[in-house]
Amino acid sequence: MSAYVFTLRTTTSRSRLGQGVLRLLSRQSTRDLSPDDKEDLAQAQLRATRPIVSGVLLCGAVLLGLTGLFEMTGVTPSIGYPWWAVQLAAMSVAGCAVAVMRLPDWRPRLLLTMLATLLIAIFMSMPLPGATGQLALRTGLFQLLPLALMALMVRPASLLAMGTLIVSMAYARIVVHGAPGTGNALYWLYTLTTIGFGAVLAGYRTDFAVSAWRMRRRLMQQAYNDELTGLLNRTGWSEHAGRAHARALQDAVPLALVFFDIDHFKAINDEHGHEGGDAVLQRLGTIIKARAGDGGISARIGGEEFAVLLTGESAASATAFAERVRAEFAKGHDGMQATVCAGIAYHRKGDTLREQMRQADLALYAAKHAGRDRVMVAARPA
Ligand code: GH3
Ligand code: MG
Ligand code: MG
Repeated sequence: MSAYVFTLRTTTSRSRLGQGVLRLLSRQSTRDLSPDDKEDLAQAQLRATRPIVSGVLLCGAVLLGLTGLFEMTGVTPSIGYPWWAVQLAAMSVAGCAVAVMRLPDWRPRLLLTMLATLLIAIFMSMPLPGATGQLALRTGLFQLLPLALMALMVRPASLLAMGTLIVSMAYARIVVHGAPGTGNALYWLYTLTTIGFGAVLAGYRTDFAVSAWRMRRRLMQQAYNDELTGLLNRTGWSEHAGRAHARALQDAVPLALVFFDIDHFKAINDEHGHEGGDAVLQRLGTIIKARAGDGGISARIGGEEFAVLLTGESAASATAFAERVRAEFAKGHDGMQATVCAGIAYHRKGDTLREQMRQADLALYAAKHAGRDRVMVAARPA
């Protein structure tokens, strides 16, 4: 029991320590983001950096292959490995580079990146016993690689893993080969400088990526959303409704389209001014958003015209939904009374989004003609 408690405690404190280190490595610029946003940002950065990580590894493979070639031809003193072993290692690193470009999950990608780094470290800068080689120069050449890789690391966990690998390799080199001629202190300073610069560059790159990501999100928000109601605008509607319509058809789930249009809105503007009219638009937007919930895509597609695409279970109760919106809106607010008409088109086999919108519009037109403040369903032959 006590062993269990001890294990539990150490595991918890170790994971707290891990969390603390990861938090230290995460950037200030990302701290106010939600977990979903952080993941979206990480994915955007990974998409951008993955080809470069792969490219750096490929450069490492070429560097290793060239060093091996220099050794084979006697241009460079050997560090003891047979030429074919060096070329085999270079080819394995090239293989890792290709896999890093293709693998979808970041964990095996990180593992392969570390494996490739380790292979280059061994064949580039760890001589076999008895070999003289130019250790300092070769180590310097190798160290450029983890420096570039660290600068490209996106997740704090990857940065931590790469830093740990560099320290472990430096330690292994000292254990196997003893202190370099310049002594241990300078060697550690050199190693830690690599890690330090790598982390600083990674931080700068992340900050740059965060500001680009935020800017892109703001522009997307402006391009796809209606500022007044917070619903999608016409562009956002085309984008989202088009995709949702296609997905629903593919999954063979019910689809319903509802159009709303405020009655005599011109008169509301005339009576309460443009600001009063805007408040009425906002109120209808709020009601639609609340009533449609997650099962619907809602947009303000024109001045006082709104569209909602309902899929799945919500589609089956489209008439009840439209009726609830109509009734709630008709209650009025702040002394402003207004009513709304709705036209509904349930999906019929072969209907495109465009056709369903046309049908909903016809139903809306019929509702206006029938006296307004009502919901009508598109009448179509079965
Ligand atoms: P109906 O019952 O037939 O729908 O009549 P209506 O007056 O609502 O229809 P109409 O389409 O003729 O008028 C729409 C009005 O909406 C005209 C325009 O001035 C106003 N409008 C369009 N966009 C906005 C906006 O963003 N804010 C405000 N306050 N009014 C707007
Ligand atoms: Mg209108
Ligand atoms: Mg109107």
